[in-house]
Formats: sequence, C-alpha cells, structure tokens
Amino acid sequence: MILQNYAEGHWVAGSGNYRSLRDSVTGKEIAKTSSTGLNFEAMLDYARSVGGPNLRKYGFHDRAYMLKALASYLMSRKEELYELSYSTGATRKDSWVDIEGGFGTLFFASSKARRDMPDGDVHVDGELENLSRGGTFMGQHIALPLQGAAIHINAYNFPIWGALEKFGPAFIAGIPIIIKPATVGSYLTEAMVKMIVEADILPAGAVQLIVGSTGDLLDHVGCQDVVSFTGSAQTASKLRSAPNIMKNSTRFIAEQDSLNGCVLGPDAAPGTPEFDLFIKEVANEISVKAGQKCTAIRRAMVPAKYMDAAAKALSERFEKISIGDPRAKDTRMGALAGLSQRQDVLDKLEILSAENPIIIGDKDKFADGEGAFLSPIVMRCDDPLNKSAVHEVEAFGPVSTLMSYENTDEAITLLRKGGGSLVASVFSYDRSFTRELVLGGAAFHGRMLLADRESAGESTGHGSPLPHLVHGGPGRAGGGEEMGGTRGVMHYMQRTAIQGSPTAIANITGEWLPTAPEIKATEHPFRRTYHQLKVGETLHTKSREITVKEIELFANSTGDKFYAHMNPDAASTNPFFEDRVAHGYLLLSWAAGLFVEPAPGPVLANTGLNNLAFMTPVYAGDEIKVRLTVRRKKRRTEDYGEVGWDVEITNQKDEICARYELLTMVAFEDPYA
Ligand code: NAP
Repeated sequence: MILQNYAEGHWVAGSGNYRSLRDSVTGKEIAKTSSTGLNFEAMLDYARSVGGPNLRKYGFHDRAYMLKALASYLMSRKEELYELSYSTGATRKDSWVDIEGGFGTLFFASSKARRDMPDGDVHVDGELENLSRGGTFMGQHIALPLQGAAIHINAYNFPIWGALEKFGPAFIAGIPIIIKPATVGSYLTEAMVKMIVEADILPAGAVQLIVGSTGDLLDHVGCQDVVSFTGSAQTASKLRSAPNIMKNSTRFIAEQDSLNGCVLGPDAAPGTPEFDLFIKEVANEISVKAGQKCTAIRRAMVPAKYMDAAAKALSERFEKISIGDPRAKDTRMGALAGLSQRQDVLDKLEILSAENPIIIGDKDKFADGEGAFLSPIVMRCDDPLNKSAVHEVEAFGPVSTLMSYENTDEAITLLRKGGGSLVASVFSYDRSFTRELVLGGAAFHGRMLLADRESAGESTGHGSPLPHLVHGGPGRAGGGEEMGGTRGVMHYMQRTAIQGSPTAIANITGEWLPTAPEIKATEHPFRRTYHQLKVGETLHTKSREITVKEIELFANSTGDKFYAHMNPDAASTNPFFEDRVAHGYLLLSWAAGLFVEPAPGPVLANTGLNNLAFMTPVYAGDEIKVRLTVRRKKRRTEDYGEVGWDVEITNQKDEICARYELLTMVAFEDPYA
C-alpha cells in the first residue's frame, strides 16, 4: 500500500524516495510513503487563499458545530482505526487514549467554544477598559484568526490524538491546517484524514496532509502562519531557529521531550494508600504505550528510607505485566513503535545504566525477533543530586529511575533538575508537604498532579493531559502551551487592542455596551424568540417606590436581618449608608418584578448572573426603574441559545444602583405559541 498525501484538495502519492513502514510486532512492511514531488509552497498558498477564506465565512459557533459533527462521524468509524492501530504496537487500552481520547478533544473543543466564545466572528478578550473621563473613549481587546496556515508537526507516539488535540483549537480559531504526522505511524493518521475528507463536513481547504518529509515547506511560512511542533528537543531547536521562521517571527509552539518526575511524600510509608497509588502510577507510566508518552514518569523520587520497599513493590507489580502482541487478549504491554525507536531507547539506556544500575527488567530479553518489544526497565539512583545523565537523558520507552531524597528541599531540587517538564506529581496526604512541593516546583512544570486517597477514585492520573487544562512546560519541555480550553485557540489568533467610542467598539464586537445606542423594543423582549431578539434591543420599565414595610417583609421572610436593613441608627453610622438600606437581593427581585413578562413564552429559564455590582444604596422613599438590554447572544443547542442581558437599575436621580448581566435561555421557536 502506498500512502497518499492530501494536497490542494487532492489525494496524491509521492513520486519517489519511498520509506517503508513496518508493523512493529511482525516487522512486515505494511505501507510505503513519500511526499516527494509535492509543491509545498502551493499547499501553503492553497491553505491561505482557499481554506482560510472558506473557514472565515463562518463564526466560532458554526465551526464548533462542524467539529462536533466531525467527532461523531469519526467515532462511528473508530473500529477501523483500532484495527490499524495494533500495527503501531499499541494495545486496545493504549489506543483508546489515542483514538477516542483524540475524538474527545474535538468534542471538548466544540463545547468549550460554544460556551466561552461569541456566536460570531470576533472574539472579545477581557473587559472593556475606560480610557476617558466622559466615557466616550474606551479600549477593548479582541482576537481574530490569523490569515495563514497552521502547520502541525507531530511525534510518532499518538498518531490520532497528537493530530486532533492541535486540530480542534486551530479549526475553532478559523485557520486552515496542514497535518504532518511522524512518518513511522503515518498510516494511521492518513486513515483518519481520509475519514475526515469522506465525512464532507469541513469547508474545502480546511485540512491537508503530508505523509513524509515537509520538504521546503518551512522556507515559505510567514508572519500569519503558525508552526506547532511535538517531538524531540533536538528537532524543535533546529526548526525554531530556521532563518525564515526567525525572520518572520512565525509563531512556533513546541512540546518536546520532558524528564517528568513524581515524588512520594515522607508521610506515604509502605502500607498507606498514597504508597500504593505511587507504585501503581509509576508502573502504569512505564508500561502504558510501552512508555512512549511525553508525560511518562522518568524520575520517581522516594524518601531514602522507603527505597527498598518501593523497588520491591514495583518489581512485584511488573511480574504481573504480560508483554506481547497487542492483539492478544492477555497482553498488558505491547511493542514500541518500531525497531529504530527501540534501538534509540537501548542507546539511551546504555548512557543511563552506566550511571545507575538496572534493578528491574532485562534489556536483552527481546533482543532477537522481529517485534519492537522491550521489557520494563527500572534503575536505582541513591545519590541523584550528584548524577547528571538521569536528569538529562530521555529514553523514550518503558524506562524509569527510582531516586532517593532526604528532605523536602532535596525533593524540590530534584524536580527542578529536569530543567522544565510537562508534569510532576506528588503522592502525599500531608497538605503542608504538597503545598511546599507546588510552591517550589510549579515554575518548572506545566501541570502538577496532587495524588492522594481523596481523589484516587476519580483522578485521571499523572500521564493524561486534559483538554480543559494546559499541556506544555517550560525549558526543556519546549516552553509551549497547548489545549487549556480557549487558551489553545488563542495561539491561532491575533489579539488586537481596539480603541474608540463605545458605539464604534460595539460595532466591531457585536456586543452592546452601556453607552452605545439602544434599539427600541417593539414588543416585550420576553415575547421574542432567540433569533428575533437583536443585540441592543432595550426595554425601559416603569418606576416603583420603595417602602420600609417591604424591606421588613423581605427581612422577616428570608431571615436576613442584618442591622443595616433593620436599625436606622446603626445603619447611619456605617460609612456606606445614611439610613436603613434595602437588601441588594431585594433590589434584584424588584428589578425582576419590573422587567419580567409573566406569560409562558420563548424565555425558558434564568441561568445565572454575571458581574453583579451594587453601586448606590437604595432607601425607603426611593423610586427605582430598570433598563433591560440584549447585550450578547450565544447558540447553546439546536433548540435554544443563551441571551446575556445588561440590567441597569437606576433611582429617581438616574444614579446607577446596580448593574449585572442576566443570563437566560431563549428558545428558537416559542414553545407556547
Ligand atoms: P522527532 O524525531 O523530533 O520528530 C518529531 C516530528 O518532527 C516528526 O513528525 C518528524 O517527522 C518531524 N521532523 C523531524 N525532522 C524534521 C525536519 N527537519 N523538518 C520538519 N519536520 C521534521 O520526535 P519523534 O521521534 O517523532 O518523537 C519522540 C520525541 O517526541 C520524544 O523525545 C518525546 O519526548 C517527544 N514528545 C513530546 C511530546 C510533548 O507533548 N511534549 C509528545 C510526544 C512526544 P519524521 O517522522 O518524518 O522524521
């Protein structure tokens, strides 16, 4: 089988220099691949001139719905990918992370975008900044998609997840994507991209694929393109320092190798739940995906007094792990991605074991044979502060080192010796120890897992980057950051500060601002469906007078008899009030009473309040009124959307007593009409 590149909307095979891709278990050739003959500059032009404009015809929510539909489609064809995935050496459990975990990142990116981003084409970043006394000159950060292409260069260990965790945020941003998987497992990525194209959900030009070398692609990237790389530090530094990338300040995001650590707390003696969790997690991280995970634990730190117990427990655990063909039911650990990857691990092991002895595993066990198998290897290091290779050399396979420490400072120093890592975990039920470790270690890590008996039942573990949270780390880990909800989308957008009048800014963002013009409501806005409501549509209510009796009634029925509401003498000595003041919550209820239209209609529910501020106290005798304005709208499902209303409560002197954003769900069709 010859793999195909997907370039400029067509499937094309390379025209020479084929690389043979082999099943990592049997060693048999399963595909040949090449990207020779592709016009990489034309691929970039196609992304910029066809893919980008096609994507930007849609808003964030439109793209989010496409992503959801795509994820569902891919999910319906997952078994085809599982079958193929065995050839990478992965067990079904390993591939679950890659395949369904990958689709999960798309589902998540879709729902997060619909929750946190506007239902339009301009992302509003943060609050409005008032830049003038009269309120006519303001500032607002906005973000818009870059006009270039996103080039996603991925490592070999997760051919599906690696591509999709980058794809989701970039697609939401609205930038076309060129996927370049690591060659060794590219047959799996190619199969998935074929499914993406067959699904026919995405606009033309949204995605292209290179199965092989990137040729001169990076010589043509410019200031609107993004290169997002996952792989070794060596390749990352070569690519990020390419003259064209430096000259154009092309965004370069790197996730690279990382000597992640974990620490067993001094409180976590053998027999405690935390000790057992630690052993289980270290063993897992060594064996899952045969240790080929960027987040795998390479350095496990143990109080010196527990070193023997930890080594024994780990060794017992490995006795139960069966290694072999990932297709076999009883196999717990499969093969590495290929023979050259195994050779690389053995070379690194040579360096590591020259410094620290191997105490578990036999590196020669699978030396003969076609499959890329390797037994789990654990080394022991009793003097880690004076060793270097263990903190510098990554063997990207089932390899880890137990290291001893004497006190908290030493544990922190050892964590930091990784020179910047993706993740560290602390196994302890001693809150002051975990706090010290986080304060001392967080600056060197992108993520920290605090593992103990309380979260054990539901924890996703040390090795799982989650789409909600950032994945990346400083220093050696590449200095990049991916995922993390909308944070990941921002890598593919330009943040721009817009300055101008409120009307001018509202015109750009599509969100109404308090000093921008109103649209006079022709009927009560609660009678109008989601699509009928216009941003800026405003209702002014009549006034109502406030009485002491109502304040007392509210106090008696709720039990809130705080002195400022009940005792005029005490209230008047309070620096904020002149007299007994109406409850803030009563003010909100009065406001609702003024603006609500009670009959059944398209407004389905009040789902929350944002940014509530009480600004001027309300006393008995005051008259309050409300201005209710549609501030922004977001589709939430196929049937209804969220409307954010600006609610401004003023008194008889037009002083603002309270302001907040009221959130309601409003139906597309009036269910009672
Ligand atoms: P790699 O050799 O650095 O390759 C990474 C990617 O870069 C591959 O797609 C590779 O393509 C491509 N590449 C290599 N040279 C290139 C060049 N001159 N121009 C353009 N692309 C080039 O890493 P790997 O062996 O695939 O992966 C293992 C490493 O990745 C480990 O060190 C591991 O720690 C790291 N990793 C890090 C993370 C993370 O999130 N931080 C995740 C997974 C893996 P070819 O395959 O065609 O050479």
